[in-house]
Amino acid sequence: MIIENNCRFILSALENAGFSAYIVGGCVRDMLMGIPMHDYDITTDALPEQIIEVFSQQKVIPTGIKHGTVTVLLNNEPFEITTFRIDGEYTDSRRPDSVVFTDSLREDLARRDFTINAIAMDLNGNIYDYFGGENDIKNKIIRCVGNPEERFTEDALRILRAVRFSSVLGFTIEENTSNAIHALKNRLDNISVERISVELVKLLGGINALSVLMEYRDIIGQIIPELIPAFDHDQHSPYHKYDVYEHTARAVNAVPMGIDGENILRLTMLLHDVGKPAAYRLDENGRGHFKGHAQIGAEMAKNILQRLKFDNKTIDTVHEIIYRHSDEIETEKQIKRIINQIGLDGFLMLIEAKKADNSAKHSFVLAENDEFNRFADIARRLVAEESCMSISQLAINGNDLIYLGYSGKNIGICLNNLLDAVMDEMLANDRDTLLKYAQEMKP
Ligand code: ATP
Ligand code: MG
Repeated sequence: MIIENNCRFILSALENAGFSAYIVGGCVRDMLMGIPMHDYDITTDALPEQIIEVFSQQKVIPTGIKHGTVTVLLNNEPFEITTFRIDGEYTDSRRPDSVVFTDSLREDLARRDFTINAIAMDLNGNIYDYFGGENDIKNKIIRCVGNPEERFTEDALRILRAVRFSSVLGFTIEENTSNAIHALKNRLDNISVERISVELVKLLGGINALSVLMEYRDIIGQIIPELIPAFDHDQHSPYHKYDVYEHTARAVNAVPMGIDGENILRLTMLLHDVGKPAAYRLDENGRGHFKGHAQIGAEMAKNILQRLKFDNKTIDTVHEIIYRHSDEIETEKQIKRIINQIGLDGFLMLIEAKKADNSAKHSFVLAENDEFNRFADIARRLVAEESCMSISQLAINGNDLIYLGYSGKNIGICLNNLLDAVMDEMLANDRDTLLKYAQEMKP
């Protein structure tokens, strides 16, 4: 376990000035687990003004002076340095009304959320672990530091962090901590949607996402009540062996790790069937139908993601894919039309969504995924050979039509007709052919 040079510099600068300094939290946890860590958090008994003084030669950003945090930039790498502190009263389940600085490392570690996040390490690699964090890492357990009810009541975001860590690290949540999560879930209503969304996206990307989505579905329902009707909703369909919610959770889990757009795809799969309960109809033969669920669901997903303050690009992409997720794709012409509407990236995401969807049904449906892979290849080929799939790729443009005597909205109508004919391979995309056709079709 090696602390990198920039970080060593920071720790020794503080020590040389007579303070104690440790790395703490996620970086220590990840180092002990032997997995890649992403940033160092540093904790020290130096007060914010003293930290600023120690790093007078560096760029220092007063990130959260009131809470004792400053960020030091060393060779462009940011280090968050926080003074040992005890959190004051919580009146809003969100943030302490005040913080009190302390010179005790133990007290600083005691305010942290989970034992696995409450371990400190000094420059020499000595570990300070007062709450059994190392043992919990070894046994893959998420456990609150102190009394879970109190800790979740202080700050309800910890509820979602617990579930997120369980999903991402593949850890089990200890029983008392787990019971408190279920019991106090409605306190999540006090937490800002921005912070909830960040945790939700991380949760969906975890190796343990499926079991967490199942075991903590009440937490998901607390954030997205629109999913509650999907719980235990029997589909009565020959293709499905899971209820709507379990199918949903399995579809999230089926999105391959590391593919382009993974986060958005997982979010898409979480919401792809949210319209099913509203669209459900049982026919006289006892078979379930969900006509229109994709369109209903796309609208619902848009509302949900707007409420959770996702960015517009994410919202639009999720909406587009959900809207089309159960459309049949059979021909090259259809592929061209979809690329025309949502681009190659959109098309490839749609294909991934359809594959994930199929992976969460009866296994015989999986055979269809070979077909989808073939469609993805066709789409990439079409784009590589610059096959005409947009008006701007046509061999003539609006000016040519004006020259022929077109005007007003007829220009757009004609260009669209030409594009349709070219995509359907009824016309070759060359200038003379298109001009001749436009001349003949002139109103
Ligand atoms: P990662 O950065 O990998 O998501 P992390 O554990 O480093 O995980 P951060 O949000 O970076 O999480 O927080 C750093 C540390 O601050 C945590 O390890 C934990 O000790 C403490 N911490 C963060 N959020 C809370 C909270 N809501 N309540 C108590 N302690 C917290
Ligand atoms: Mg961190």
